[in-house]
Parts: sequence; C-alpha cells; structure tokens
Amino acid sequence: MDKGTNVGRAGSQQKKVVSIFLLIDALGWTYMKERSFMDKEAVVRMPVKSILGFSSAAIPTILSGKMPQEHGFWSLFLRSEEGSPFKWSRSANSLLRFVPGRLARKVVEEVSRKYHGYTGYFETYKIPLKELPNYDISERRSIYAPGGLETAPSIFDLWEEANLPYESYCYKNGSDMELFKMGTAKLKEAKCRALFLYLSEIDAFLHKHCKDADAFSRKLAEYEGKVRDLLAVANEEYDEVRWFVFSDHGMTPTVETHDLMAEVAGLKLDEGKDYKAFYDSTMARFWFMNEESRSVITKALEKFRFGRWLTSADNSELGLCFKDNRYGDEVFIMNPGCIIEPCYMGDIAPQGMHGFHPDDKYADASFFTNIADEYNPKLITDFFEVMKKETLGL
Ligand SMILES: [Zn+2]
Repeated sequence: MDKGTNVGRAGSQQKKVVSIFLLIDALGWTYMKERSFMDKEAVVRMPVKSILGFSSAAIPTILSGKMPQEHGFWSLFLRSEEGSPFKWSRSANSLLRFVPGRLARKVVEEVSRKYHGYTGYFETYKIPLKELPNYDISERRSIYAPGGLETAPSIFDLWEEANLPYESYCYKNGSDMELFKMGTAKLKEAKCRALFLYLSEIDAFLHKHCKDADAFSRKLAEYEGKVRDLLAVANEEYDEVRWFVFSDHGMTPTVETHDLMAEVAGLKLDEGKDYKAFYDSTMARFWFMNEESRSVITKALEKFRFGRWLTSADNSELGLCFKDNRYGDEVFIMNPGCIIEPCYMGDIAPQGMHGFHPDDKYADASFFTNIADEYNPKLITDFFEVMKKETLGL
C-alpha cells in the first residue's frame, strides 16, 4: 500500500488523506474562547488542561503522551556538575572576565553547544555565567525529530517506525511565517500523510503584549489567514484534510513582582556551600547541602504570601516525582501572576508569563479541529493520543 495515500482510515484505499498538526506555543484558551478563530471550519474548540512547567516540560509531554516524571523533561536547566556542557567555562572564567558581557555569553553558549553536540533548544537567558557550570540543559537533542526525547518514544519515533510519510518543522527551520511556507510547499507535493509545525512566535508576542487585546486579535487574524492558506492548498491536493491546532500552555498576565533572589541572598547562608538555587521566573528551585540551610530557607519563604512550597502531594498529582533531585530538592512556586524579578530568565518581568500551577485559569491550552466527535482531549498528554490515533489508527 502506498503510505502516502491512506493508512488505515475509513474510505477507499485511493483516498488521499492528510492530518495537519499545528502546535502554537502559548495559544492559551482564555485568549481564544471569545475570539474568532477558524469559526466556520473548527467544529471542536475547547480548553485543555496543561501541566506544571514551561514549554521545556509541556512539549515533551505532548510529543510523548507522558508526564514529566516519566519522560524526564521539566525545567530547561537541571543540576549536573559532571555532565554540564558549560564545565569548561569555569577554568576560562579569568579570561572571560575581559570579554564584554554579551559577547562572553555568546562565546560560552556557542562553544558549549557545539563542542557537546547539543541540537535542541539552547539558550542561557540571564543565568549568571559563573553559575552555568553547575547545570546541564535537558533538551540535548532536537525534540521535533525521532530520538529527540531519548527516554521515551515521541510521535516522531512512532511515525518513523511505521514508515509514515511525514514532515516536521520547528523554529530551527525558520520563522513561523517561513514554516507556513515550507508546510505549504510540502502539501503541494501531496506526499505527506502527516504534517507537524511547531510555531513558537505567539509565545514571545504574548509575553510582551498579553494585556493588549487588540494587538493580539490582529496577530491572531494574521495566523488564521496563514492557516486558511495552508488548508486551501491541502484541500486542492488531498481528498480529505484533517487539521488540529493546539497549544502547550497559556499565558498569565503579570500582576506583581518580587525580588526573591534578594530575600534568599539576605539570609545568613552561603550559596554554593550551604545550598544552590535556580531562579526560573515562576519557580525557585533549591538544593540543600545541609539541614540548617533547608530549615532556614524553608521557614524564610513560608512567610511569603506570593507563593508556596510544592508538597509531595503536589508532586504526585502533577507527575513531578523524579527519580533523583536533578530539578531540585524543593521547589517554591509563585502564585499566578506573581513573578520573580529579577530572575535567571530576565531582569525585568514581561507583561505575561506561564509556568504557574495548571489550575490557574490562564494556564489552559487550546484545541481546535475540523473533526467532529472523535477526540475529546482533557490534558495535554492526550494530544499525543490524538496524533497517534489520527495517523496510525492506534
Ligand atoms: Zn514563553
């Protein structure tokens, strides 16, 4: 059977079918529910619960159908002195001191990435350079290709194994608008059974402008136009076009900021000897080297109303029971809308952020499709099942 025509779906073997999956980063349901988007074509439009974590956790979850504790991806940065690709920079520190800040970061990033052969998302944000050798990056390989997750099979591994003709494009291949073009060109060839595009720029847009409703409506209209153009080409080339637009998480408007780093630094403890801390924008993760530091930091942060410690019950519920402490001994999570400022991700909090508890209403992801009555995803893990059933019939 020609795999480019029809793999196990109802209908004649001659019928050409394509399934198109558009993963739009941060396309939160709260921004979509009252907006017009593919109104005529989408017969299903619904919120889907996300998980606790950033895209570095949510996307592997979508691609594998597994929770973070199973696939092992959570924060982009994990503790690993031995395996750190930045280890070499410790001995180069005296030289790097003479290089201007931005350039030094660029040098450290490029050398570490290239020398260690990392092909995934590689960005050190504002993590102090001297801290980098304490950490490794979780996404060592491109997750949008087979073998990307290393610890769990992703949808791309399944497609590869099944010999399914598919195409997958992500930010490495170009801007969102370029990816639409590439996808369109592929559909024109009419050989794909599945097309997957990871579109990342809405995330950056909403970080900056989530409080500007008109600006987002204009942005969304632009994407809607591109989706329609893509589908128009697909409809010319295929007998049946089945499309899915979904996201990994939402975007919570920033309400207040807190200098948690200064609060912790003000304690009578020595970072590096007593504890290590990593400051994401919505979570502070701690590794304790002695019981005193654990007790002092725990108590000090307990008094704050803008966040709380994750409990073991939270970790069980959220699929965060990792087999070791690579992501921290304890995690302090900020309340929705409260940002750690400054943090290792940036000096100034953006207008919106994600990475809060998934119960926050702004955290919900979205799901749109032209397929009625077949899929009812509740959690973003279900997107994997949608893609699997859709293409492999399993
Ligand atoms: Zn983001």
